[in-house]
Amino acid sequence: MHDVLIIGAGPIGLACGIEAEKAGLEYVIIDKGCLVNSIYNYPLGMTFFSSSEKLEIGGVPFISHLNKPNRFEALEYYRRVAMTWSLKVRLYEEVKTAVKEEDGIFTITTSKGVYKTKAVIIATGFYDIPYLMNVPGEDLPKVAHYYKEPHPYFGQKIIVVGAANSAVDVALETYRKGAEVTMVVRESGILDTVKYWVKPDIENRIEEGSIKSYFNSEITEIRPHEVDIMTPDGPKTVENDYVMAMTGYKPNFSLMEAMGVEFQKDELHTPIFNDKTQESNVENIYLAGVVCGGLKTNKWFIENSRVHAEVIIEDLAIKKK
Ligand SMILES: Cc1cc2nc3c(=O)[nH]c(=O)nc-3n(C[C@H](O)[C@H](O)[C@H](O)COP(=O)(O)OP(=O)(O)OC[C@H]3O[C@@H](n4cnc5c(N)ncnc54)[C@H](O)[C@@H]3O)c2cc1C
Repeated sequence: MHDVLIIGAGPIGLACGIEAEKAGLEYVIIDKGCLVNSIYNYPLGMTFFSSSEKLEIGGVPFISHLNKPNRFEALEYYRRVAMTWSLKVRLYEEVKTAVKEEDGIFTITTSKGVYKTKAVIIATGFYDIPYLMNVPGEDLPKVAHYYKEPHPYFGQKIIVVGAANSAVDVALETYRKGAEVTMVVRESGILDTVKYWVKPDIENRIEEGSIKSYFNSEITEIRPHEVDIMTPDGPKTVENDYVMAMTGYKPNFSLMEAMGVEFQKDELHTPIFNDKTQESNVENIYLAGVVCGGLKTNKWFIENSRVHAEVIIEDLAIKKK
């Protein structure tokens, strides 16, 4: 029997494990993928917007070569954290169901086994489900919702959909590695949330025509060698080899819903929790990390949600006394 079972071995799930370890609680962290699976799946050349000390957990120093660490350094860092604290992590094991029994104990069923636990922390992040464009041809192999690296796109005509950080990073990186890039953007310009040191770069590339753009526009159909775009000047058809749909991601709410977690009746689908303890409407189910923001996936991130770990474990430790 565990005191607490933590779903998700992202930075915040690991932080919860560290606090549980410090408090002497019996815990286990379970992840459906590898350690810090979301960061692993980020673009290979990704640089964090946070400086390295803001991503630290468990008092382990994060030294990076530059002020802002990159994905490789973050993977190295969180591996070192897991080893330093000898965290009890089970990887490649998906939590499928969690049922609260009459005695208040949870039965958690995973792809590999069954666990009993007195409390559950949901730290499942937001990187699992991409927003779809819902247009014909979206399922073609040339359409991707996750981006790794620019090399395959050298000499290719690519369309980048979106105007937030991910889209802008993909557009600039592929352009600089020899792709012919066109951005298709629903809004009237590059979003203000784009990193302030990157925004002028993309806007200048668009203005000088190095990167083509269609604003206030949407893709209406994707075919193997062409894409149809509805623009303010009417429909256009452009030649195309690849579509990078950087349209954002949303948390997988189904597990939370199945566990009885309730959500505010707003369009952001924000889960209900006590902001002093992070406890949801279901006693002994806690929420931690980016998942707390519902569809507002930029509300919570590593640097401002590390603190959830301490708050939750403090509450559990008080209950245990
Ligand atoms: C390109 C990019 C750049 C970013 N830069 C920054 C930055 O500079 N600074 C910053 O603070 N934040 C940044 N973020 C956001 C940051 O990565 C997230 O806030 C962070 O990963 C959230 O941590 P988390 O532990 O809450 O969730 P995640 O890191 O997403 O971890 C959730 C984990 O839960 C696992 N999981 C999900 N469902 C299940 C299940 N059913 N069973 C078992 N395991 C499951 C997943 O595999 C995953 O490993 C960035 C995000 C992106 C996309």
